[in-house]
Amino acid sequence: MEMLAASRSIKAAQGAGPATVSDADVARLSRLHFLENITHYQVTNIVPLGLIGLCGAYLPGARLLTLFLVLNAATLVAMNLVSRAIRRGKHPAQSISWWRMYEALAMLSGVLWSACMLPVIDTLGRNIASMFVCVVIIVSIAVTCMVVATERRLVGYFLFGALVCLIPQTILHMAEIGPIPLVATLGLGPALIGLASAVRNQNHLMVRTQLEKQHLANSLSDALAAAEYLASRDSLTGLYNRRAFEELALEVRDDDALAPLTLILIDLDHFKAINDRFGHGIGDAVLVKAAEVIARHAGPHDLVGRGDGAVARWGGEEFIVLLGNCPVERAVQVAHDLRRGLAAMRGLDWPEDMIATGSLGVASWDRGLALHACISRADEAMYRAKQAGRNRVSVHGNAGIDDLAATPAGQ
Ligand code: GH3
Ligand code: MG
Ligand code: MG
Repeated sequence: MEMLAASRSIKAAQGAGPATVSDADVARLSRLHFLENITHYQVTNIVPLGLIGLCGAYLPGARLLTLFLVLNAATLVAMNLVSRAIRRGKHPAQSISWWRMYEALAMLSGVLWSACMLPVIDTLGRNIASMFVCVVIIVSIAVTCMVVATERRLVGYFLFGALVCLIPQTILHMAEIGPIPLVATLGLGPALIGLASAVRNQNHLMVRTQLEKQHLANSLSDALAAAEYLASRDSLTGLYNRRAFEELALEVRDDDALAPLTLILIDLDHFKAINDRFGHGIGDAVLVKAAEVIARHAGPHDLVGRGDGAVARWGGEEFIVLLGNCPVERAVQVAHDLRRGLAAMRGLDWPEDMIATGSLGVASWDRGLALHACISRADEAMYRAKQAGRNRVSVHGNAGIDDLAATPAGQ
């Protein structure tokens, strides 16, 4: 199963081509960016509000202007609180009701920016402070549109609020200020919408590139993990291959928590005859089944957290098991279970008269003994099991191969 998944993810990584990113993903990420930076944008609004407040001190409608400034600042604070609530939500990019409230506040903010024009509009042509207030208001409206450009609806609501309040003022005061402010205000809407749209496209392009890079990096690391997995596995059985087992065994040997360690070498009996008589296909099926049986039986005594990690296909019809926290007496019991499991294995399309068994050699792996020296001991023990009639377990004692503990076939 794991093997299949790994090879599938390699194929997926190879065939994926350029990473595809949906428009919804782009919109979601740019909204998250917007939410992350919104406090910073809102703080910058203090500057124009302060400037208008300073100028307002020299104007006749100072009180009204101060009221609008205070209301505007309060709206900004409310927007900040709502944006925090959105960010605190489980899905910040999708909390619809908070977003609706944010949009309503954006519209109110647009209205209040334009309302600041009310106390100064009739003196526009005569008073330099009024003129300055007007410029700061228009610039602030334009900057806000750019700041919220990634959120199309916010631009719409804010601009709608601003223009709905500004246009009637320019019409009502046309006698004093002439038609140019009205024309300019009417042109402001489309110009800002066009600019905001260009900024939004640019921003979405950047976000898309960022997401594509991320996807590419993810599929590369998936492919790398899958390639590493496949490089360590035997392609027929899915068990560790010889190289991976050697690496793992040396790593395990240095871990005191896993002592004592024991090795079991398993060789299928008369396997050449199985191939010759029933064909290579059946031979392969026996190997796969044997791998399953061995991995299953090695389970509870397996290296902690390693799954089938301690079981490997050592060669053609040879398997090796490394047991951690397992004294040799316990390993002998495991080996007997393995032997019985192998003798009992059956497949759906296996010939009735086919007998598949294994001979097993057990050796304890003491600290200071080289891995291959220990495997040779297990191999010697396994060879004794073969000589004693196959389908048996033989134990290699530390001092030699005297303590042969063969089990008669069939038991
Ligand atoms: P013994 O009981 O003494 O171990 O006899 P044996 O026939 O099992 O041993 P031998 O070494 O003579 O034969 C091993 C056979 O395993 C020979 C080889 O064709 C076969 N073999 C090795 N790898 C594979 C494989 O991947 N698939 C199949 N079907 N056969 C394999
Ligand atoms: Mg062999
Ligand atoms: Mg064999």
